[in-house]
Amino acid sequence: MTDISSISRLQAIQQNVERIALEHNLNAEQIQIIAVSKTRSAEEIRTLACHGQLAFGENYIQEAIEKISLLQDLAINWHFIGPIQKNKTKQIAENFDWVHSIDREIIATRLSAQRPGDKNALNICIQVNIDEESTKSGVIAKDLFVLADHIETLPNINLRGLMAIPSMHDDVAQQYRSFEKMQYLFTTLQQQHNMVDTLSMGMSNDYPAAIQCGATMVRIGTAIFGPRKNKKDN
Ligand SMILES: *Cc1c(COP(=O)(O)O)cnc(C)c1O
Repeated sequence: MTDISSISRLQAIQQNVERIALEHNLNAEQIQIIAVSKTRSAEEIRTLACHGQLAFGENYIQEAIEKISLLQDLAINWHFIGPIQKNKTKQIAENFDWVHSIDREIIATRLSAQRPGDKNALNICIQVNIDEESTKSGVIAKDLFVLADHIETLPNINLRGLMAIPSMHDDVAQQYRSFEKMQYLFTTLQQQHNMVDTLSMGMSNDYPAAIQCGATMVRIGTAIFGPRKNKKDN
């Protein structure tokens, strides 16, 4: 039951993304939905993967690694989107395809050094604390470019773009304000680093505004899977 509804909710979001893209003259093929599967079971992920959803986002390394090993038979791209402690970088470097939450040099350096030689370079987004909230991870805008230059020197990680979790607003005008700031930083970064092509922003409650401001990845949990039971994730 739940599984069937997650598929239909995902389809509705896909249609919504296509409609927004069409209305705003954007290419829907350049907007990827990352299904955020923290707290969700391997079986719930498998159901969506069998319907063609092959990008999933996870926040907690231990939980993620269990699911990744149960789902090895599927061609899933795993995105790490949670805060990163220094002692977790090896497991992330060994198990993920993307990391969206880089906000300091030491983490980037370790991920590059610990990336296994038989894997492609790890794809990296720098997390920007766009509304400069003390409770949020991420670099503040003025420190972004120094970190980007450092990442560019590392052999086994590729700088792909930026990620943000703006402050929560139901007011769409306020959502735009943060996303437009990100769009500006993204365009500026692209001028300095020509591999940069990814702007990861927009969640269940604000992805339409994010897409209109140029998001190329939206990270959606609740709107696909339903509300999470775990309090700290709500
Ligand atoms: C949990 C989470 C999401 C998804 O949030 P929803 O509101 O459930 O869509 C997206 N990005 C990050 C970094 C998250 O931690």
